[in-house]
Amino acid sequence: MAPPAFVTSTASAALTSGLSHLGLGVVSPRRPLYAPNTNAGSQPRFYMASSSPDGRRFFVGGNWKCNLNKSAIADLVAAFNEAPPLDRDGVDVVVAPPSIYVDSTRQILRNDFAVSAQNSWISKGGAFTGELDATMIKDVGAEWVILGHSERRHIPQLKETDETVAKKAKYALENADLSVIFCIGELLEEREAGQTIAVCERQLNALKQAISDWTRVVIAYEPVWAIGTGKVATPEQAEDVHRSLRLWLKQNVSESVSDQTRILYGGSVSPANCVELAKQDNIDGFLVGGASMKPTFMEIVDSYKVTLAGAV
Ligand code: PEP
Repeated sequence: MAPPAFVTSTASAALTSGLSHLGLGVVSPRRPLYAPNTNAGSQPRFYMASSSPDGRRFFVGGNWKCNLNKSAIADLVAAFNEAPPLDRDGVDVVVAPPSIYVDSTRQILRNDFAVSAQNSWISKGGAFTGELDATMIKDVGAEWVILGHSERRHIPQLKETDETVAKKAKYALENADLSVIFCIGELLEEREAGQTIAVCERQLNALKQAISDWTRVVIAYEPVWAIGTGKVATPEQAEDVHRSLRLWLKQNVSESVSDQTRILYGGSVSPANCVELAKQDNIDGFLVGGASMKPTFMEIVDSYKVTLAGAV
């Protein structure tokens, strides 16, 4: 079947070349694509989602947490660099090394992957030993920062509050021109108490109080019970929360922010489960921990193709 007119030629080639290993045929796309990237080849390497009213380019982030070293990163990056070029109308890929390796990773990584830090300070630098001013992250060529990861919210020695995370996001967005992967999600006991949506909304509400421009924010819904546990949320469980979050954005921020903001799922995403999750209408990509430190991360990246073609 010929792809619809709004599927670009690059995306069309990706459909025919890339769907077979996902076990999918081509039916209608679940959503339109963005306009072609007119910044290709210029700086910055990453380009932002367009303002298309109902198109949300798929996004796959890899969070390496406090893992790997210089030589392991060199090996992993070499494997990523060998993979075919990305269809940049179809997917954004961002990897987040430990902060000390952000600069060196940026230097050796393919240009169609962006780099993220895993944290930044709430404000301008100064006498804040051990912290990173977000402008320093930008200075070495990274374009993203992950904020509010559940490990930073919940590890007893860290315990970042909703307000701290939101303050960090505000500074990174407004003073460093970074984009933000803003993580939210409930603990197991909160899910069992029926508080999943309330917790996520509370965390998002702190962000809403702090910022007005959401165009460089990507939300990562990561149920804490699914992170690093191998217990992935079912596609239905994830989609239910994502749908509620999109509604919250519509009712509390604006319809356009609701339409345009990408909501990622994170929590034990793997090559084995990514396709079913990617098929969900309100899942716009993934934040991946463990599985992002293997060459097969590229199989997770490839799951964007089901969002171009729809599932059969
Ligand atoms: C994460 O680090 O954000 C994450 C989701 O980890 P994992 O994929 O290992 O569960």
